[in-house]
Amino acid sequence: MRGQVRFLSAVVALVLSASCAPSGAPPGSDAGSAATGAAPTTPPATVSSSPASPDAAGAATAAPKVAVTLFKNVRIFDGKAEKLSDTSNVMVRGNIIERVSSDAIQSPADANVTVIEGGGRTLMPGLIDAHWHAMMIRSAPAQAIAGDVSYNNIGAGAEATDTLLRGFTTVRDVGGPTFGLKQAIDEGVIAGPRIFPSGAIITITGGHGDFRQLYELPRTIGTLSRVEQIGASAVADSPDEVRVRVREQLMQGASQIKLTAGGGVSSPHSPIDASTFTEAELRAAVEAAGNWGTYVTVHAFTPEAIQRAIAAGVKCIEHGFLMDEATAKLIASKGVWLSPQPLPEELRQGFPVGSVQRAKADEVWPGIARTYELAKKYKIKTAFGTDVLFSQALAQQQGAILAALVRWYTPAEALVMATGTNAQLLALSGKRSPYAGKLGVVEEGALADLLLVDGNPIADIKLVADPAKNFVLIMKDGKIYKDTLSH
Ligand SMILES: [Zn+2]
Repeated sequence: MRGQVRFLSAVVALVLSASCAPSGAPPGSDAGSAATGAAPTTPPATVSSSPASPDAAGAATAAPKVAVTLFKNVRIFDGKAEKLSDTSNVMVRGNIIERVSSDAIQSPADANVTVIEGGGRTLMPGLIDAHWHAMMIRSAPAQAIAGDVSYNNIGAGAEATDTLLRGFTTVRDVGGPTFGLKQAIDEGVIAGPRIFPSGAIITITGGHGDFRQLYELPRTIGTLSRVEQIGASAVADSPDEVRVRVREQLMQGASQIKLTAGGGVSSPHSPIDASTFTEAELRAAVEAAGNWGTYVTVHAFTPEAIQRAIAAGVKCIEHGFLMDEATAKLIASKGVWLSPQPLPEELRQGFPVGSVQRAKADEVWPGIARTYELAKKYKIKTAFGTDVLFSQALAQQQGAILAALVRWYTPAEALVMATGTNAQLLALSGKRSPYAGKLGVVEEGALADLLLVDGNPIADIKLVADPAKNFVLIMKDGKIYKDTLSH
């Protein structure tokens, strides 16, 4: 009882201090006018007396020299143009690309400068994988679902470091409990890519992503299955439940929301032809995400599932492999994104012959080529992703999967897709993007995620399939994680 009283008084104190916060807004106001800088309010005493005032800190100690990296004599693939620049120089200050010039750039005196002699090699943006599952690679399905969580997390951390060292400096994670992994990477605890997290895959009872066993049925509302407890997926069977699940992901920092609008290959109980969420349920997700300033992407194969999602306001379709001509036209006319993957044949063959999953894979795989052809024909906004699942060996092929796009695209088109174009998809997260600044391009003012390639990947895209050999320098956020030139 006394504990409750203490808790309550703490809450009251918090509420009171919140109402005194230096926002200038009245207590309980959602206007946030001071935050926008629109209201010229006098700063309250708490701000002026703060010891953390930047001026005071600056006067007390000399500011440490900022880190500058100067790339000399490089040819630039900028993530937009389908060609290399003439010989150029690029200066990175802190985590930003400050200057790009064909003229020599002098080393600034006010900085700790690292000079990289490019020797005519190619400087390009870090690669982006738009369909990644950082928590579902090292562990086999049974381990990922039922195994020890800390073991799975450590494996995901090691894989994240490998991902970065393959030159993928950003991933859009479309399902899995990645919030802790992302935090550890962003804080520098471990090396890894930037992560745009979706959090749990939201599905219906029996839908793609519901990995429960039949003995776990029926569900009692309010109880969570193991997969839900670890944040891998979340089951929702009404618009109201969808809203709760979406908001739970947003509360944890999701930059976009992922729902499964139709059946999937790897899940045990969802037929490929099934449409799962109702339009009202999809609409509830879109509204909740939209209120938070971001968007919904859905896993969908069939025309029916895709069309229903688009009618509900979904902004991106994952896979889309069973789409028809009319659906491709619809996607194009609505400006919806398509996020297909050139899934390798060995992934299909990985499902045991005679299994339900293999039968579903056999149905879906022929659609991959047709989907890319339709995407090209109707000029659909197309992202690049790999969707590697439960295989470290396949993850090591991440660059090779990108190179496989040359079945449908020129090397330059494929590289633009995996850099500048993917970054445009990431930008749909708006203010929910975890990383302020421009990604996927080499231009002044953009975030400094850069690869130095030993060769010209536009002439020979196979270079990206062997990053250990050919990416001689890897930089993320202005920090060099690999440099084989200086040693
Ligand atoms: Zn996936």
